[in-house]
Amino acid sequence: MQIIDGKAISQQIKDEVRDKVAALKEQGKEVALAVILVGNDPASTVYVGNKKKACAYTGIRSESFELPEETTQEELLSLIDDLNNREDIQGILVQLPLPKHIDEKSVINAISPDKDVDGFHPQSVGRLTIGEPGFLSCTPAGIIQLLKRSNIEMEGKHCVVIGRSNIVGKPMALLMLRENATVTICHSRTKDLKEITKQADILIAAVGKPKMIDRSYLKEGVVVIDVGIHRMEDKKLCGDVDFEDVKDMCSAITPVPGGVGPMTIAMLMKNCADSVSL
Ligand code: NDP
Repeated sequence: MQIIDGKAISQQIKDEVRDKVAALKEQGKEVALAVILVGNDPASTVYVGNKKKACAYTGIRSESFELPEETTQEELLSLIDDLNNREDIQGILVQLPLPKHIDEKSVINAISPDKDVDGFHPQSVGRLTIGEPGFLSCTPAGIIQLLKRSNIEMEGKHCVVIGRSNIVGKPMALLMLRENATVTICHSRTKDLKEITKQADILIAAVGKPKMIDRSYLKEGVVVIDVGIHRMEDKKLCGDVDFEDVKDMCSAITPVPGGVGPMTIAMLMKNCADSVSL
């Protein structure tokens, strides 16, 4: 059984980005990311801090906008408009979730698709759907990298994705399709979930339910990708998959922590560096 090492693979990607950013600098091109945080949600503050750290590591200049909770939607949209028009900013990231009085959809739609390094803009999603180059949603794009760099074949394999959110499940399914897998998407209304997941050669769990996937969902030799991240009462992290229960049935599996988690920021850095050439 292979444990897919997201820590090592994400490091490799960050190093590649650092080299690319350095090469761009030599050509006189700087890569800069604007990071916008509204309010002081503790988890979001940690995520933003980690993104800024990754920027510092890769040589990407990060410009931080930490706005108070009571910022209005108009104020936020006006900041995004300024950043869209600034030539010295290549990527714009708005940390989600936003305070309740701000409409997330309007904010995502306001970001120029050319600077949409999170890959959430409808134009980025549309490009992915019809197979044109564009920014890819970071977590699913990171999963493709995990599989490729672990030499796991996707072509012709039956990939079952559990979850159909706009940020993970749907783009994940589209990316697996692009890799020529045969894809099934399951969700909360799926009937006989286990009957379907037992057919998976590659199972991607993005359900948001701690340890829901145990061995009764799997067939022998499956590759399991666990997207879930949950903080348990004992402060330990776990995923959507019951790792200890399933590990001896899998040919490969991502652990939590150290699997999918570190890939998201690495792919964000890659999107920023690629923004110069897209
Ligand atoms: P959402 O809550 O948006 O989506 C969960 C999906 O799972 C929905 O499509 C839902 O179906 C489906 N679902 C829920 N319960 C069941 C069930 N019992 N059986 C089958 N399907 C079910 O979550 P996200 O996609 O945002 O995230 C999924 C997980 O990944 C979370 O644990 C999150 O923390 C983690 N995550 C990790 C990231 C990382 O960097 N590693 C990044 C983003 C997320 P329906 O649509 O019908 O409601």
